[in-house]
Amino acid sequence: MAHDVVVVGSANADLVVKAERRPGAGETVLGEDTVIMPGGKGANTAVAAARLGADVALFGAIGDDHHGTILLDSLRDAGVHTELVETTARPTGIAYITVTPDGENSILVSPGANHALEPERVEKALSGAKVMVVSLEIPLRTVERAIETGARAGVRTLLNLSPAAALSERTLAALDVLLVNEHEAAWLLGSADDPAKLLDLGPRAAVVTLGARGALVLTPGSAAEIAAPQVDAVDTTGAGDGFTGALAAALAGGADLESAVRKAVQVAAISVTRPGAQPSYPTAAELPGG
Ligand code: ADP
Repeated sequence: MAHDVVVVGSANADLVVKAERRPGAGETVLGEDTVIMPGGKGANTAVAAARLGADVALFGAIGDDHHGTILLDSLRDAGVHTELVETTARPTGIAYITVTPDGENSILVSPGANHALEPERVEKALSGAKVMVVSLEIPLRTVERAIETGARAGVRTLLNLSPAAALSERTLAALDVLLVNEHEAAWLLGSADDPAKLLDLGPRAAVVTLGARGALVLTPGSAAEIAAPQVDAVDTTGAGDGFTGALAAALAGGADLESAVRKAVQVAAISVTRPGAQPSYPTAAELPGG
């Protein structure tokens, strides 16, 4: 079945433990009870888009295990279509997150099934889609094949290059929108001086998220800065994924890029005022004028 938005990306179970301090080498530290949260960049993005009412499917991979069931349930609860989520022989991806009283996280990721996400079925998954969103944490060959297949099929291709990774020139040139935060932009360009140079890498447009400052929309010959509303941020976990999902939902609904970024800035600002990633994403009714 065709869906307006297809998200190609990861799904992880986030196992969060609070502890007085993080263990050093050879050491054992007792922490509090484990809290399991649904996460992974692909799943977060899909949930954010679905909450806004978009018709969205996740193309991803989980294991045949308890964590996989938790992730499927959370996707379905949010209204994400899951028939493109493959169950593999590898375990569901896990992020082991230790949180210390200073608020710092240390995260160990075991990608598991996410690294078994093969590109073979991507063509079928994209048939009839308006927008495809790809993020990292999955094999680079799957990222590249998805973008090139999407471009050939006339699907609008959006890449959230997070975490930053080196992609082929061909893939970057096939992209409609390259979406990065300031750190990823500086990594790609070797400097933070002139983000407009992102367009020289090949995409038709680039969006740079600027944290509490909002976002920058770059198209050939123009740069528009969209300010974020001032809010009391309590937890920025998953803000970039929420932004990405909202951008995709707005583009699939027919918005132009700048209006879609305005929407994404509103959505991400609400998400940082609430704890967690997926639970923090608003519905369309919660947006100003919604
Ligand atoms: P990432 O989470 O990927 O590192 P950013 O920190 O740039 O990316 O955040 C993504 C988006 O979330 C920003 O473009 C902005 O719209 C929103 N955002 C992040 N922090 C805040 C904040 N303190 N106040 C309002 N909006 C924020």
